[in-house]
Amino acid sequence: MAKSTVEKKNGKATAAKGLDLIGNPKAGRPILGGTATVAMFRSLRLIGVMEGLDDTLGKDSRALVYNSGKHFGGALGLDILRETGPDLGRYVPAVAARLKDLGVGLMSVVQMDLAAGTLTVRVDECITCAGMPNIGKAVCHFEGGMVSGILEAFLGAGKKVAVEESKCWALGDRTCQFEVRIS
Ligand SMILES: [Zn+2]
Repeated sequence: MAKSTVEKKNGKATAAKGLDLIGNPKAGRPILGGTATVAMFRSLRLIGVMEGLDDTLGKDSRALVYNSGKHFGGALGLDILRETGPDLGRYVPAVAARLKDLGVGLMSVVQMDLAAGTLTVRVDECITCAGMPNIGKAVCHFEGGMVSGILEAFLGAGKKVAVEESKCWALGDRTCQFEVRIS
């Protein structure tokens, strides 16, 4: 029933997943185009998702937002891996270039010790928090999850990547920093 309704309205439905779900915004928005403002993104991300989910759940939504970012990071990581292959020296710069292109932020690696399973990632000009006031709590759980998904896509099955945000504009810092633990 639902399927035939979709087919009648939109022609043949597809089973798009991952980055394919983004579709072709430029084709669908010939006048407005394929970009939106950072203010619009933050309205969705900080007011709609963060405050809206906290309100709906009646508790802190950070795990849900983190998990959303992890799905996105996983899809993005697999897409980048197709370009770079399993070569960390090519993967990290390709991730940074893609995050810059998408306007997510300027990513750099502060320290990396894969033998110890630790990594510190910095994101300047973060799309979610750069320029926002200090509200006494970090807000970039989507980006933390994204870093986790990107790294798990590279490391493959069996590796768990936990990410915690240690610096954030929303904590009064002037950058975002993520502490990564690989186990
Ligand atoms: Zn932040």
